[in-house]
Amino acid sequence: MDNVTVVSHPLVEHKLTLMRRKDTSTKGFRQLMREISVLLCYEVTRDLSLDAVEIETPMMPMQARMLSGKKLVFAPVLRAGVGLLEGMLDLVPSARVAHVGLYRDPETLGAVEYYFKSPTDLADRLVIAIDPMLATGNTAIAAVDRLKEHGAREIRFVCLLASPQGLANFQQHHPDVRLWLAALDPQLNEHGYILPGLGDAGDRLYGTK
Ligand code: URA
Repeated sequence: MDNVTVVSHPLVEHKLTLMRRKDTSTKGFRQLMREISVLLCYEVTRDLSLDAVEIETPMMPMQARMLSGKKLVFAPVLRAGVGLLEGMLDLVPSARVAHVGLYRDPETLGAVEYYFKSPTDLADRLVIAIDPMLATGNTAIAAVDRLKEHGAREIRFVCLLASPQGLANFQQHHPDVRLWLAALDPQLNEHGYILPGLGDAGDRLYGTK
């Protein structure tokens, strides 16, 4: 699969299994989402560029390396994407945040926008869009459409689970956007839910069902 990294790590698999279990509590699910987002963030930032800088340790001067290049923006798709945000901010506390408010119309499964707020300099930043479930792909496509309309030129996408149909749909619309995911599940049901999946990520995060 071009452009797709399935993050392969025992901790990711273990945490994902706990999240999939239907008897995992809201509190547990939210905590696991935060923990797994740190691991996904670690991978999506793996190739960030570094510059040499002169520093002084308490012992002596040295040449060390620090992040260079584009600053980051995390772009959670409301509301489930927020579940992945805090862990990512733990790793990159200076990142800016763009909130993208989209919901899935339950009839058409199309994405409907209700909110968008981002830093004004998206064009100069590396934008990491985040949404746990890439199911039909429609929401992810719409989120990336919005980010591009607002100037974003370099975008990556992080999710927990994707379906093969969703990935194909997304890649057809946005072949320039690389994706990182924890697992690729085999199926979608007629309501656009991923199978075996983990249910409705937003409801499980916020205890709304
Ligand atoms: N959104 C979810 O929260 N879960 C799915 O399985 C699909 C979309």
